[in-house]
Amino acid sequence: MKKILVIAFLAINVIGLAQEKITLDYYLPKNISYDESIPIPAEVIGHEVGEWHVTHDKLMFYMQTLAKASNRITIETRGETFEGRPILLLTVTSAKNHQNIDQIRKDHIALTESGSGNMNTAEMPIVVYQGFSIHGNEPSGSNASLAYAYYLAAAQGPEIEAKLDNMVILLDPSFNPDGLQRFAYWANTNRSINLNPDKNDREYSEVWPGGRTNHYWFDMNRDWLPVQLPESRARIKTFHKWLPNILTDHHEMGTNSTFFFQPGEPTRVNPLTPKINQELTTEIGTYHAKALDKIGSLYYSEENYDDYYYGKGSTFPDVNGSIGILFEQGSSRGHIQESENGILTFPFTIRNQFTTALSTIEAAENMRSKILDYQRKYYTDIKNEAARSKTKGYVFGDSKDASKAWHLAEILNRHQIKFHDLANDVTISGKAYKKGAGYIVPINQKNPRLIQAMFEKRTTFTDSLFYDISAWTFPLAFNVDYAEITSLANAGAQITDFKPLKSSVSGQSTYAYLFEWNEYYTPKALNRILEKGLRAKTAKSPFSLQGKNYDYGTIMIPVQNQKLDGKELYDFLKEVAEESYLNINAVSTGLTKGIDLGSNDFDPIKKQQVAILVGDGIRSYDAGEIWHLFDTRYQMKLTKLDTRDLSGSDLSHYTDIIVPGGWGSNMVNKSNTEKLKKWVKEGGTIIGYRNTANWFNKYEFMKLEMKKDTLIAKNISFEERRDFLGAQVTGGAIFEAKLDRSHPINFGYKNDKISLFRNTNIYLKADKNSYNNPIQYTNSPLQSGYISEENAELIKNSVPFKVNRMGQGKVILFTDNTNFRAFWYGTNKLLMNAIFFGEMM
Ligand SMILES: [Zn+2]
Repeated sequence: MKKILVIAFLAINVIGLAQEKITLDYYLPKNISYDESIPIPAEVIGHEVGEWHVTHDKLMFYMQTLAKASNRITIETRGETFEGRPILLLTVTSAKNHQNIDQIRKDHIALTESGSGNMNTAEMPIVVYQGFSIHGNEPSGSNASLAYAYYLAAAQGPEIEAKLDNMVILLDPSFNPDGLQRFAYWANTNRSINLNPDKNDREYSEVWPGGRTNHYWFDMNRDWLPVQLPESRARIKTFHKWLPNILTDHHEMGTNSTFFFQPGEPTRVNPLTPKINQELTTEIGTYHAKALDKIGSLYYSEENYDDYYYGKGSTFPDVNGSIGILFEQGSSRGHIQESENGILTFPFTIRNQFTTALSTIEAAENMRSKILDYQRKYYTDIKNEAARSKTKGYVFGDSKDASKAWHLAEILNRHQIKFHDLANDVTISGKAYKKGAGYIVPINQKNPRLIQAMFEKRTTFTDSLFYDISAWTFPLAFNVDYAEITSLANAGAQITDFKPLKSSVSGQSTYAYLFEWNEYYTPKALNRILEKGLRAKTAKSPFSLQGKNYDYGTIMIPVQNQKLDGKELYDFLKEVAEESYLNINAVSTGLTKGIDLGSNDFDPIKKQQVAILVGDGIRSYDAGEIWHLFDTRYQMKLTKLDTRDLSGSDLSHYTDIIVPGGWGSNMVNKSNTEKLKKWVKEGGTIIGYRNTANWFNKYEFMKLEMKKDTLIAKNISFEERRDFLGAQVTGGAIFEAKLDRSHPINFGYKNDKISLFRNTNIYLKADKNSYNNPIQYTNSPLQSGYISEENAELIKNSVPFKVNRMGQGKVILFTDNTNFRAFWYGTNKLLMNAIFFGEMM
């Protein structure tokens, strides 16, 4: 150990020649003594904080070492990332509090329950959740957590002791371990001994897809409400376990910016957030200002950023009686970079994060009772409000897709929202709800405001600018039936043990097996069946057989002339049913009411080999959503074809290539475009998303007529131009379209309306032949979210989907994102229909 340390210090000295030597003192408050038994970061990780970008494994090693050395810190692993990295949490408080930590937590939670009126907040610790670098390439936060955790463990004297007595700090050193690791690799491998601030240096421009996102390229700072990713699941579990009073989220922004702390834009706060939340945020802000003044750092607040979408880390707490705070530091991206504010060093960015981590707990200590009282009042107020409400709850479900309804209930479960089974099958407002495939959510429970935030539709806004999406209404995202209810008469037992769904095969058949296409996991099942080399067909018309109705798209697996014998096939299908939560019916005859099982109206389905374009020119978020869908939901192989390698790749074995969208009509170069066209003409299916429309149009994959707006600014000043243009952005809203259910793109949908998520302004004219418009926006399609008046005109009766033949192949276009952020379960099937049934279109 000693030897390693010597080498490490030597290395520091050599590098020190090239720059001002960094020491831990640069970050730490002055005139405090530190416990010498606590190891400093450099002793453990081999470099000073800010000298290199810390990798996640070193970060973890340091935090584990600290927890061993300090009686103020315990550490736990709450799960692992997709790449198997532990998701850590440090609990930091006085040694005395640690002895009693479970009781402290229980008392803290009791403050938000009924009967909390007599609790004395003056005697209760405040709970602060501090999280860092949810965007992996915004690394100053995680690097600051090294120095900050050291400070919390080692600082001596009455000031820190009083703080730790009065609070419990939940320290999450890396919200995004996989992204942090990816970025550290980039910044470190491009670091020169002679640090070079030239912004053109490779060090400051990462390769695709960059370290911002997690393994499947998700922006995890949009997943706090949908909770679809393992990192978020760990975080949200901790959040609800503790209900922290303050949650901070340390980010970075552009290199030329200074430092931002919330509150953000006052006009862009979600209306469900109480006003006093923002007042407390402002008061906490005075502590950040004071601390940054002291070290001479420039900063701003009440601009740019907002508190609207509850899927963000700094906004999610606001609907839970907590106070979420966003920090944004101008990024050095690598180790040192020139900026409008002079040379910006990595240590400087780390110091600002460290400083505001400290000012956060300063504020928490001084405002402790006030903030605890606010939290108690929040839960009392919303409970009283719910008790007075005429709406007693929501019912939701899909009588033909239990899995989709189950996954929506799963989100409620993760947020500790209580829900009930249905007492019986029931019809409400004309929609049939089936026991086992539907749920009732009473609003008279702990956090009715959170339920409202998930279920409400909103179409009027005080501002027309949004930092992120303007709508996320969950039952629309899932395309389930739902209704507000004024009585809980149909509610069955509360579900306290939320179990996976059951499956079945009704028996062994000698003739055929059938399953309808509606269930969420049917593509997974079909893929498994085709991969096994079995023959399967899909019904192009509805029929009924042995007392059961089968809709468009029903899958039929004949028993005879298969690779497996009768018993083997039955056993295999039992496995398939179980993995995909399906009920498969064994039938004994082919004679139906409607098309018989031997009819030509059953089309054979081929095994699909799908590739997706990724790399330069392609939007990584959209590509990652599709990769995640195939890999984690449907267990389907998906080849990630890099645009860089396209010219040398043999495409002939792919049945489908997905183009997720990217940098418009130039996202693929001309020769590769010609290569892809040739592949389509020879029988391939190309599936494009969003602005792939422009590329399709330019290179004549399909002829598109786009509806363009002709908006001209009148009485708009130069200063107002940004807001004027911003108001035309459709940042993310939900629109209703009608479906022609007989078209294969819509197989598996039981309703003749669908809710689509859109975040583009591409409006396609409908075809003059109605049968070519299987999905068409209604005359008044806005269901939830913001769209400008001009765009609201353009979207009327336009179409979000087109398909045409080119040579032997097919060109398919979706202008909307059907796979949005892994929680838009309701439209995932459209992509699967394009893949499995594209040839029938
Ligand atoms: Zn960020």
